[in-house]
Amino acid sequence: MKVICGATICDGSGGPLRQGEVVLDGDVIAEIVAPGYCATADAEVIDGAGMLLAPGFIDAHAHSETKMLQHPENRTKLLQGVTTEVNGNCGSSPSCVPHDDGDFRWQSLAGYAALLDSLRPGLNSMTLCGHNSVRAAVMGNDQRAPTAAEMAKMKALLAAALADGAAGFSTGLIYFPGKFSSVVELIELASLLKGTSKVYATHMRSEGDDLEAALAEALAIASSAACRLQLSHLKTNSERNWHKLPAVLARIEAARAAGMEVFADRYPYVYSCTNLRQALPAPYDLMPGIQQYLRDSAEHQAEVVAALSRSQRDVAATILMESALRGRTLGDVATERGISVGQLCMELIMAAPGQHAAFLGMSETNMREILRQPWVCAGSDNVSLQLDDANDFGHPRAVGTFPVFFHMVAEALGPAEAVRKMTSLPAAVFNIPRRGLIKPGYVADLVLFSPEHYASHADYAGNNQAPEGVQMVMVAGKTAWDARRPDDVGRHGHFIPIPAR
Ligand SMILES: [Zn+2]
Repeated sequence: MKVICGATICDGSGGPLRQGEVVLDGDVIAEIVAPGYCATADAEVIDGAGMLLAPGFIDAHAHSETKMLQHPENRTKLLQGVTTEVNGNCGSSPSCVPHDDGDFRWQSLAGYAALLDSLRPGLNSMTLCGHNSVRAAVMGNDQRAPTAAEMAKMKALLAAALADGAAGFSTGLIYFPGKFSSVVELIELASLLKGTSKVYATHMRSEGDDLEAALAEALAIASSAACRLQLSHLKTNSERNWHKLPAVLARIEAARAAGMEVFADRYPYVYSCTNLRQALPAPYDLMPGIQQYLRDSAEHQAEVVAALSRSQRDVAATILMESALRGRTLGDVATERGISVGQLCMELIMAAPGQHAAFLGMSETNMREILRQPWVCAGSDNVSLQLDDANDFGHPRAVGTFPVFFHMVAEALGPAEAVRKMTSLPAAVFNIPRRGLIKPGYVADLVLFSPEHYASHADYAGNNQAPEGVQMVMVAGKTAWDARRPDDVGRHGHFIPIPAR
């Protein structure tokens, strides 16, 4: 038996904070008792004085599936207090299709899960089955509708992943090859969710100019599959679309009022982060061979430079995230080199179209409004990074989402509601068994943290140092991380298969 005493309990339900002691029996929470119990108990006492004790945080939107095989500790998330990651978002779930990269091999999600468990991850992982991974496995990057035989193969892969415990079906409809799919294809695939408690999670076809049509498509798919809908990183991208937020929120509220279960996740930053090639307007955005196309001729290059002036993105304000230029804007680098922003962007895409960049396009006011919605949970939209590796650099959301989200929401709605959006809300959306609450019978995934000191200092210039303020993280009743022994990570996580109901 263990007992955590002295802490203020924030149980994840959104209810009031209270004083009490939490008794653990093995990997579960046994009971919550009045202060004073630990003085008499025959148990290992964990001192939580001055701290908030919360359920371990759940990252509703992660991309760490393959990274966790190379670096199972996943310290970037653990040190924020995260104990479970929902992976496989935005249509990308390598775990759900046959895989062999020389180092790691699996045939199915069950095989991936066994492999991950054998590597003893620092925190729990679960996954959605991603449409892009399934479509690419069956029909590559083909820009066409699937044949009946291909559709049958895609359905078989999705069905197998769901049977192996995938939490639902995810799409990333701005990426290859998902952007080539029609709503008919997506409805047919999502129909496998019918009658289950699994979720359709979508990075919508547009988050800006065609946001309302994209939302209508997402609602139509979830409605015809009679399943729960999770809108990934909900936003209104590009200043000219910021005014759309009231209409978008009203549309979601109307669907909820009509009985649909609609939720969303959001990271608390106004820069997004994706491939630099996403700066390209049509028709170049649909060109899988863009790198070769640019290398082919100077005319092609000039054409793309001209096209970049029609980009929906603020190209000059875009921050480069890789190479020696990381942390700098395209505008600054272009000025320094005496070339146009379009020319520089084209050259960088020609060198490496998949390199990551941070795009400025979101409104701070809208972000805060979105975060306040009771159905919006925290999601980093990031892979775990290696804190001690200066070359493993990314968007500050990788290291800072949870502290920044906590403070932004707590400022508006109080700490209990902030914690609910980081715990029981995502646990309900993704149907995660016995997690997200401090409640007898629930798994003892817990975080002890100091709200005053809980902070991230990560930025866009390459500073990905560890967040502060977390004193202790427990996974299944065992110490996963303790600030007094910061170099040790106890690896007690595992793959969580999600039941159908
Ligand atoms: Zn996404």
